[in-house]
Amino acid sequence: MSYGLDSSYPLERIRADFPILAQMVRGKRLAYLDNAATTQKPRAVIEAISRYYETSNANVHRAVHELAERATTQYEGARDRIARFFNAQREEVVFTRGSTEAINLVAYSFLRPLLKAGDEILVTGMEHHSNIVPWQLVAAERGASVLAAPVLDDGSLDFEGWKKLLSERTRFIAVVHVSNTLGTVNPVAEIIREAQARGIPVLVDGAQAVAHLPVDFAALGADFYTLSAHKLYGPTGFGCLLGRRERLEAMPPWHGGGDMIKTVSFAGSTWAEPPYRFEAGTPDMAGAIGLAAALDYVEALGLEQIAAQEHRVLEYATPRLREIPGLRLIGTATGKGGILSFVLEGAHAQDVGSILDMEGVAVRTGHHCTMPLMARYGVSATTRASLACYNGEDDIDQLVAALHKAVRLLR
Ligand code: PLP
Repeated sequence: MSYGLDSSYPLERIRADFPILAQMVRGKRLAYLDNAATTQKPRAVIEAISRYYETSNANVHRAVHELAERATTQYEGARDRIARFFNAQREEVVFTRGSTEAINLVAYSFLRPLLKAGDEILVTGMEHHSNIVPWQLVAAERGASVLAAPVLDDGSLDFEGWKKLLSERTRFIAVVHVSNTLGTVNPVAEIIREAQARGIPVLVDGAQAVAHLPVDFAALGADFYTLSAHKLYGPTGFGCLLGRRERLEAMPPWHGGGDMIKTVSFAGSTWAEPPYRFEAGTPDMAGAIGLAAALDYVEALGLEQIAAQEHRVLEYATPRLREIPGLRLIGTATGKGGILSFVLEGAHAQDVGSILDMEGVAVRTGHHCTMPLMARYGVSATTRASLACYNGEDDIDQLVAALHKAVRLLR
C-alpha cells in the first residue's frame, strides 16, 4: 500500500480504510473529532488482529509447537517493527498496557528506589493525570514533592519559569510532549538538553505526540518515552515504554510472575534481561501485532503528510470557531497540534457536547484528565475537538453548524 507523498491528500481513500466512519449516528453523518481520547482503527489493523487469532494464536515463548513458534515470531517481529519506527533498539521497547502503565513502571521501578526526602520531581502544569499521580504516589512515600512549571496564557510552557524550578533537589523531570487538552507541543529537546547538563533523568509522555509527529528516540535523548497504541490507530490496552538500555538494565523488576525471570528458586530468583524483566505474565500478543500494523499504515500514509493535513484543518477551524459568539479558545500556542479546546460562555460543556452529539459530531467534554490545567484557566471543563488523519474541512463545517445551534439553544 502506498499513497504517494506528492499527490494531494487522499482523504476519501483514507476514510474508506476506516470502516467505523461509514456509519450514520443519530441519523447524521459521523464527524469523529474525539481522536485525542482514542483514534479509530483502519481495516489493516483490524484484519491483522483477526488474522493473528484465526491463524497463529498460541502462548508465546514457551512451547515448541508450530503455532507457538508462529505467534512468537509475529509478536517479537512486532517489537522489531516498533523499535524501527521510533529508532530505538529492540531491547529498549518494553510492552505495557499503555502510557499510564509505562509511567507507573518508571515511577516504581526507576525513581522510587532513588528518591529521598526533600527530593523534587519537576513536571509541568499541563500534564495528564497519568503524568502527575504516579509521581505523587512515590513522592508521598519518600517525603519528596512534585513541582509544576507554569503555563503561559496562550497554553505554552513558561520555559524560563520551568528553568527557575530546576535545582540541586530536582531528582527527575517528566513532561508531556503534546498536551492532550491544549495541543501545545513542548520544547522537549531543550528540556532534555537542560536536564542532561545537570544529570537529571527525563521521561517524555508521548501519548498525544506519536500519531502526529515523528519521534526518533535515539536522537531525542530522553531516558524514557511513553506511548499508547490506541491513540495511534492501534488497539486499546497496549502501549510501550521506550527506555534507554543502560537505564533499563539497572532497574529492578516491577511486576513479578512468569516470563520476567531467568531462574526461580526458594533460595532466591534471578531476573531476565530487559525488556522481558518488565513484562510479567502472558502478554498482549494481538496488541503488539495490532500496533505494528498501525505503524505500517501510518508509514505508508506518511506522518508528514498526516501532520500537514491536520495543520490545514486546524487552520481552517480556528478562525471559524472564533466567529462563534461567546466562544473562547483555550490553547493558542504557536505550532500547536490539532486540538481545539474551548468554552462557550453561559453554557455547560456537557450540554454543548450533547447538542453536538445530536448533530453527529463526536467530541469530548470535561477536564480531560488535566484538572490542574482547568484550574489554571479558571474553568471546570472544556469541549475538545481533536483531529486525526481522516478529518477534513467537512468535519469542521459540521462542528461549526452544530455549535451555532448550541448557541441558539443554550444562550
Ligand atoms: N498522557 C496523555 C497526554 C494522554 O492524553 C493520555 C490519554 O489520554 C495518557 C497519558 C494516558 O494514556 P492511556 O490511557 O492510554 O494509558
